[in-house]
Amino acid sequence: VKWWCEWAWLGGPEAAGDVLLTADAGRWTAVDVGVTRPPDAEPLAGLVLPGLANTHSHAFHRGLRGRTQAGQGDFWTWRRDMYALADRLDPDSYRDLATAVYAEMTLAGFTAVGEFHYLHHDTGGRPYGDSNEMGRAPVEAAAAAGLRVALLDTCYLRGGFDSAELDPVQRRFSDGSADAWAERAASLADTVPAGDDVHVGAAIHSVRAVAPAELGVVAAWAKERGAPLHVHVSEQPAENEACRAATGRTPSLLLDDHGALGPSTTAVHATHLTDDDLSAIQASGTGVCLCPTTERDLADGIGPSAALAARSVPISLGTDSHAVIDGFEEARAVELDERLATGERGRHPPDALLAAATSGGAAALGWPEWGLVAGAPADAISVDMDSIRMAGFAPERAAAHVVFAASAADVLDVVVAGRPVVSEGRHLLVDDAATALRRILAELDDR
Ligand SMILES: [Zn+2]
Repeated sequence: VKWWCEWAWLGGPEAAGDVLLTADAGRWTAVDVGVTRPPDAEPLAGLVLPGLANTHSHAFHRGLRGRTQAGQGDFWTWRRDMYALADRLDPDSYRDLATAVYAEMTLAGFTAVGEFHYLHHDTGGRPYGDSNEMGRAPVEAAAAAGLRVALLDTCYLRGGFDSAELDPVQRRFSDGSADAWAERAASLADTVPAGDDVHVGAAIHSVRAVAPAELGVVAAWAKERGAPLHVHVSEQPAENEACRAATGRTPSLLLDDHGALGPSTTAVHATHLTDDDLSAIQASGTGVCLCPTTERDLADGIGPSAALAARSVPISLGTDSHAVIDGFEEARAVELDERLATGERGRHPPDALLAAATSGGAAALGWPEWGLVAGAPADAISVDMDSIRMAGFAPERAAAHVVFAASAADVLDVVVAGRPVVSEGRHLLVDDAATALRRILAELDDR
């Protein structure tokens, strides 16, 4: 299959002109610049970019949009609303909701998602007949919506440092022990359809939810399988304080003590870090996933993105709670939040922000090759150059214009594994995703 682009971003500040992309068996086999369009090449209108990678998602949180933003309180009061929603989902509604949410993601230009999944069992904490019925739901949803998924099967065993007991609503998150988690996660990993569009990785919900003695079990599971390991880290100062009081260590250092940091690990949020935490993250090769639109919605704080970049820590991005699903907004927020926090501009070059939104996220989800380059998965998206927001575009400043001004609504075409999934802003696999989403959200509101 051949695609021809008037403009394509291949890295750096500028766009290249007249770019021919050739794909075979789901991968790019050639990327040629300055080529006249051959008659057998499909045109991709607009500015073509690599697929966006959504490194951190809880698909079901989409059910909170517009319902929790107006409330008062803090992260912990928001969490009560989130738990109430978690209590209303079963495998069918989880799959239907995730399918519509992933359709919204593909329409926004995401071609891969990392689903941080911890709704394992029924609301009483009993396994469904197939103990991975809930885990299969997002995998099936991603296939239906046409995007790649890394299902990050999450270990979640206790209510907090001072409570081995689970809150009733947390019971469905728990397998009882890390060994039982490992066994169930292995059976999921061994039975998902093989291929380059589904990965099964591991996650530690947080140092709150998994006791120190059990952190190493999850880390070893991921290491043995060469799978990504993700973990919520230091999103809230209260987590740091509780961790220090219980263990004498910060969350990052505790994870390091138990072998849970490393090049395959992604620390999600990493908002409130000490210098020692930053050093441990850097020395171990751990990456960090920032989720700025969620972190601002939940009043978490502004993460140390400039310090991470200065230490060459790999950065990725996620829409997390899906208060909005817009990869460009996520990318520019990293730089713009840094400006608000420091009074200085220009810590993150636009091309570095685009790399975080694309190849940085893909690497964190187990796709180390990514982008418009021979050998990488044949994913691409195009941004409408006729959109009012892109008026005044010049190829020499393409990265800056698209990062600081484009919106999810400007995404025209999405190609995944050489196959068109979105064309001219219309989803080709999910018919009328907005209506589907409206219906499932109304049903959940009524439950
Ligand atoms: Zn999260």
